[in-house]
Amino acid sequence: MRQLIIIGSGPAGYTAAIYAARANLNPLVIASSVEAGGELMNTTEVENFPGFPEGIMGPDLMTKMQQQAERFGAEIVYDDVVSVDLDGPAKKVVLGSGAEHSADALVYATGSAPRKLGIEGESRLSGRGVSYCATCDGFFFRERTIAVVGGGDSALEEATFLTKFASKVYLIHRRDELRASKIMQERAFANDKIELVWNSAIVDIVGEDAVTGVVLEDTVDGSRRELTLDGVFVAIGNDPRTHLVHGKLDLTAEGTVWVDGRSSRTSVPGVFAAGDVIDPTYRQAVTAAGSGTVAALDVEHYLAGLGEAGVPDATADQIEGLPAV
Ligand code: NAP
Repeated sequence: MRQLIIIGSGPAGYTAAIYAARANLNPLVIASSVEAGGELMNTTEVENFPGFPEGIMGPDLMTKMQQQAERFGAEIVYDDVVSVDLDGPAKKVVLGSGAEHSADALVYATGSAPRKLGIEGESRLSGRGVSYCATCDGFFFRERTIAVVGGGDSALEEATFLTKFASKVYLIHRRDELRASKIMQERAFANDKIELVWNSAIVDIVGEDAVTGVVLEDTVDGSRRELTLDGVFVAIGNDPRTHLVHGKLDLTAEGTVWVDGRSSRTSVPGVFAAGDVIDPTYRQAVTAAGSGTVAALDVEHYLAGLGEAGVPDATADQIEGLPAV
């Protein structure tokens, strides 16, 4: 049995792996088969990760984190977890390949997944003009007219990026004020390929085999109109990926994994959580990385306190400088 399994390979998972590997815990990172590296793999330039004054491309940043974790001995498996068994002292994970692993401690750092609009036409036309990833699919919309939905940093970043390909990008937002940071707003407003469509909700995505347009509803007066488009990029936020732990770990009202105060301790001893999956508010690469650090330190403390029988030892609470497990 291993000491530690980390599920997730975003900034939280890899940072937890770096710390745990340096503490000789030989962590096994389950990095996912197609989504290794997490959300930053779908991002272009990251300008606000400290230490990179010129910015760094999201995938490059994640490759560096992966290499840093491996340098200290973390083992990485590119497979998906299909189930977890968190009862008892051994935490077990089953992978898509059928392989099973167990450990004394588990860090759950599965991040978040793009939120869906949940409207007619969205899933039917997904991959046929409806996309959740500008960096993945932008290339297919050269000289086309497209829309981005949302008013946050993601939507503005995607809209600005997509102007490299598209001839016209509508930014459709349900209110008359953006949620995005000032710098992103200024960049979008200065881009003459971007046209803001205020107070508008998409109520239908139309097209037989591919997107041909959307039906917009005015959120002020309720009137409807059709807008002709070749593609729709949905960028309305993310939801925590908790599907593996439903009914196994306590969740918060916001749907994130519940953790005890500022720690990473979940409702199950030996199971720790970090990154976007516990964070309904900040959700930055840097905060996720910090959260991964907290998880690794909590795991170290927990493992140090395991008695002979593999249950937390009362003396663990006395380890200097660390919160009680
Ligand atoms: P977000 O900040 O939660 O914004 C989501 C946007 O989508 C909001 O404008 C929201 O409208 C809109 N929205 C939500 N549900 C909707 C629905 N059903 N229909 C239509 N519109 C809907 O999400 P985010 O933009 O993904 O950003 C998440 C976090 O990552 C933020 O903290 C952000 O700062 C960070 N981030 C940072 C960067 C960067 O620094 N470069 C880049 C991307 C993301 P309302 O405004 O009306 O609620």
